[in-house]
Amino acid sequence: MKLPFQDLILVYHLVSDEDVKHVKHLFPYRSVKHFENDLDFLSKHFEFIDWETFIKEKTEKTTRKKPTVLLTFDDGYSEFYDVISPILKRKGIYAMNFINPKFIDNQELMWRNKASLIVSEITENKSIENKLSKYPNFNNDLKSNVSSILKINYKNQNHLDKIAEYLEINISDYLQKNQVYLTTVQLQKLKNDGFGISSHGWDHPFYNQLGLENQLENTQKSLDYMKENAFLNDSFAFPFTDHLVTNRFFETIFNQNPDLKFTFGAAGIKLDSNSKNLQRIPVEIRNYTAEEILKNEISYYQLLKKFNKNKIIRS
Ligand SMILES: [Zn+2]
Repeated sequence: MKLPFQDLILVYHLVSDEDVKHVKHLFPYRSVKHFENDLDFLSKHFEFIDWETFIKEKTEKTTRKKPTVLLTFDDGYSEFYDVISPILKRKGIYAMNFINPKFIDNQELMWRNKASLIVSEITENKSIENKLSKYPNFNNDLKSNVSSILKINYKNQNHLDKIAEYLEINISDYLQKNQVYLTTVQLQKLKNDGFGISSHGWDHPFYNQLGLENQLENTQKSLDYMKENAFLNDSFAFPFTDHLVTNRFFETIFNQNPDLKFTFGAAGIKLDSNSKNLQRIPVEIRNYTAEEILKNEISYYQLLKKFNKNKIIRS
């Protein structure tokens, strides 16, 4: 495998053998076996590094015999504590967690998780499905109802609460029973075990649906939380995507936060006109193995490079 870069950053969300209702309609997550296979493949070809080493190598531009990989996990799901961290500890592998402080301790369900939970309920329970068909703007077509729910955006997220209420889906009950996200106590334990805890925005907005002011505010609030709790305030990963985020945002956020070293998108192997914004490779793509995903990413990057399209240019 010939890599265009010697340091890759991978992004996962969660690993589970369970039926995770609040996630399963959003993206395919790894089973434990599939995840362990990924790790076995990666350890053959790469050296896993931690955040401190990553920064050091980025700034000093050291060369290594083996390419490196940094593992990252987004959204702060409790599976990182229960399922993933025991595997990583056993194998001596570091990972970074990009979390949304608003949802830590399970007082509220993130809006996308609400959408997935509602879709799970209507697709798994005929009487709930029938009830929804009578709700304003819905009909008898399950497929179109599902797609309408999954299309509700960050700004209209209160629609999800209204639908859940109408369908008598008790979200706070679900949160308490399922402990969807990490708790403050678990974050401290993970930190003490050597894992990184960093920022993913306050409440997981779509940045390109926000104005600059709100983008900055949402980011700053999550960076402040990291500082107050002595987690990492030198990094930030965009929720969803950094698509259309302007140079103005980057200039301001780096100016406001002298400790901030890098921000992260998830556009796969790509360069960014903003050299401090690094692109990560999403690994949760259908049933593809990490090996298949990396091979695809590399050949796609080579193709883009031929047409000079391997760099994200920001305005
Ligand atoms: Zn996320």
